[in-house]
Amino acid sequence: MKYAIIIPDGAADEPLEELDGLTPLAAAHTPNMDLIAREGRQGLVRTIPKGFESGSDVAIMSLLGYDPKIYHTGRAPLEAAAQHIPLSPTDWVFRCNLVTVADGIMKDHSAGGIGNAEAQRLISDLSHGLTAPGFEFFTGVSYRNLLVYRGSQAFNVTTRPPHEIPDEPIAKHLPRGQGSEILRKLMSESAEMLADHEINQVRRQTGHNPATQIWLWGQGHAPNIPTFQQRFGVNPGCMITGVDLLRGLAVLLGWDVHEVPGMTSFHDTDYAGQGRETAKMLDKYDLVFSHIEAPDEASHQADWKTKVEAIEHIDSYIVGPVLEKLRTFDEWRILVMPDHPTNISTRKHGYAPSPFAMAGTRVTSVLKGDFNEKNAAASDLHIEHGHELMEYFLRAGLA
Ligand SMILES: [Zn+2]
Repeated sequence: MKYAIIIPDGAADEPLEELDGLTPLAAAHTPNMDLIAREGRQGLVRTIPKGFESGSDVAIMSLLGYDPKIYHTGRAPLEAAAQHIPLSPTDWVFRCNLVTVADGIMKDHSAGGIGNAEAQRLISDLSHGLTAPGFEFFTGVSYRNLLVYRGSQAFNVTTRPPHEIPDEPIAKHLPRGQGSEILRKLMSESAEMLADHEINQVRRQTGHNPATQIWLWGQGHAPNIPTFQQRFGVNPGCMITGVDLLRGLAVLLGWDVHEVPGMTSFHDTDYAGQGRETAKMLDKYDLVFSHIEAPDEASHQADWKTKVEAIEHIDSYIVGPVLEKLRTFDEWRILVMPDHPTNISTRKHGYAPSPFAMAGTRVTSVLKGDFNEKNAAASDLHIEHGHELMEYFLRAGLA
């Protein structure tokens, strides 16, 4: 059996006035996703358990069959795994975003989607300039960097993801709790250091959001996760993604990570390249997981036009070719679903259950309808515990 899983990140949404009361997923022209829903099944799945902050770390862990209540220790540790950063059980990892704060307001969680080279320069300068015993910076992709702490300070802190507080005053969202003073000090010192940094001068001159400071969040210790093969008996799979969070999950799951040139986490990504490579990897692997970040980033920018276009590109350049490839195998299944909603109206991740569509060998059709939130909700297939979906996808209806 060949399995393909395609995740248009944050593609689910609420109805929008600008789209005549349709959601972006419903408004987008998606003949391939619709075919999957019509030939197979669609339903709703709750990927963010009650009490968790909505994010891809929690959502994708759920949909891969791992209960976040048991396995989730934070977002940053997953990204540390992506970079193969060795962690002892007592080490802490923090996400270290480069963000744009203006007049005390969180303007942009991504510092204008800052490029890798610029981000690396800034992080390198910060690591030399800040006095932070026990702390070590690691550069990641774009604005997504990491700060590791190997020391004796105890932390019991509450932090907020910067993409959850757009246009809000940062003062009320700074780290709180035991050990938070040192985090707040690093953040404010970074603001002083970066204020007139030459990279920021150029960014301002060219109309890009400057990286005015670091923002620390998503902290945790290294998680202890059984591999996907141990858990489900499926041969090691292949992860294709533009973000470190998913590369890290892949490492922990015992999967290979396949890099595709031209793939980014934004709408400038090479959709066709990702579609070709996802299809090609199905020759080599029994399971290929292909994740596209672009719809989520467009939602955070409240850019509904780009969101619709990203969904359409995913449908025609990735889902289409993968479906075509799968049909050359005797037994196959495909699952397409947003990991969580990201709502244009709030620019934040939502908590509603996600629609999913699956088709393939012995997945039988019940209701006939295009793939969207409304039709998924109308189906009788509602999975309340997200981590039960994977077992269903891999085995339902098979002897
Ligand atoms: Zn997001």
